[in-house]
Amino acid sequence: MSDNVLRGLPSVDEVLKRPELIDEAGGVSHGHKSEVVRLVIDRFRSEIRSGSIQIESIDLSEAVVEAVIKRLRRLKGNSLKRVINASGVVLHTNLGRAVLCDDAVEALERAASTVNIEYDIDKGGRGERDSHVEELVCLLTGAEAACVVNNNAAAVLIALNTFAEGKAVVVSRGELIEIGGSFRLPEIIEKSGCVLKEVGTTNRTHPSDYACAIDDDTAVLLKAHTSNYSVVGFTSEVKLKELVAIARKAGVAVVEDLGSGSLVELEALAAKSEPVVSSSVGAGADVVTFSGDKLLGGPQAGIIVGKKLFIDRIRKNPLKRALRVDKLTMAALEATLKLYLDMPSLAKRLPAIAFLTRDDVEEIRQLSEEARKFLKDSLGDEFHLELESGYSQVGSGSLPGHELPTVLVTITHENIKPERLFKRFLSNDPPILGRVSRDKFILDLRTVTKASDVVPGGLEQV
Ligand SMILES: *Cc1c(COP(=O)(O)O)cnc(C)c1O
Repeated sequence: MSDNVLRGLPSVDEVLKRPELIDEAGGVSHGHKSEVVRLVIDRFRSEIRSGSIQIESIDLSEAVVEAVIKRLRRLKGNSLKRVINASGVVLHTNLGRAVLCDDAVEALERAASTVNIEYDIDKGGRGERDSHVEELVCLLTGAEAACVVNNNAAAVLIALNTFAEGKAVVVSRGELIEIGGSFRLPEIIEKSGCVLKEVGTTNRTHPSDYACAIDDDTAVLLKAHTSNYSVVGFTSEVKLKELVAIARKAGVAVVEDLGSGSLVELEALAAKSEPVVSSSVGAGADVVTFSGDKLLGGPQAGIIVGKKLFIDRIRKNPLKRALRVDKLTMAALEATLKLYLDMPSLAKRLPAIAFLTRDDVEEIRQLSEEARKFLKDSLGDEFHLELESGYSQVGSGSLPGHELPTVLVTITHENIKPERLFKRFLSNDPPILGRVSRDKFILDLRTVTKASDVVPGGLEQV
């Protein structure tokens, strides 16, 4: 039976001759087009064999052509699209975290051409990649030296590998963190070629725990910021300063993984601020690592600051070559860091900080009210639209549990489930990401700048 059906499949040439494909396949060369057709026919063949398609109810030739068109459109369209973030999560890891500032966007465009990423123009010879941001980072953090790698996970990896390969890294049991996207500190320590030595308990670790754990095999005391959770109640941790004193005495290094690592005290978020990088540097950590795309508000990067002797050793590690950032990242990072030179204008010019400190709920309310009107016009009377008070999240494990007061636009319909609305908004071009909560579809405009951005086209088809 299935052999008969298989004979009903069109040949590659038959499909290629179909007029519908001529339009769709513009910009795709004949070889690639034929390969796409062949792959689609192959898939149909195996689905027919396994009985997973109902062949009685379809015209095979038409179905193949349709599938080829779909595949060509997907190939030619942008997979990476702009998404309207109305989720209420400011630094959304799945949406690429920080929205870059205008200066960074300009810098990206410049860097798309040829740039002096590793060329010293004054000397007329090979230059140092990190030189484009090192002075800035040092000025902003008080560190002696700085270098940049792909992300903070890479920063921790290379720091530990440089100072403790084949040796022990001591960490408090209260700081054995897992960050979303499979960053688990014990695994990173292992992959760095180091041996994890846990000390203390989940809720309490004392100076003596570290001091007793240090032996001839110990190379690093590691402190990790518990980014996405807090230990509350009967707790005790060893402050960085104390840790530094213990390490000095024993002649081992102190590495701190700050996670978000804010460059400045954010007054608007002062209630529960993230640790500031300069404090860790001031407390005497040999090396401090943090992300470029969390509270800093720049591109994905891992920034390592610390004592010159230590940073020089990291630079010489062959892993640095494997983990180095490209010219685009460097360009965006440099432009972002520059904004910190002029603190009063920071919140105006840096989107991440602007969104986080948009504490003037009134401004979000006005934007939401505008969006509500637009949505009402385009959705019609059957939808119930309301404004409600609610909370936004910082995201990316920054300021865990810290909620930012906001105004939400809630959308409900008697016969349409909120999940369906969620999907419908997401299928818009550009996709609009809201969230579903308490049986309502919700849009949070904290991270949106134009009310019309959250109004999908062609909503009649909801
Ligand atoms: C976010 C985070 C990381 C991972 O940083 P990426 O830049 O996402 O690689 C590592 N450690 C801590 C404490 C973090 O908060």
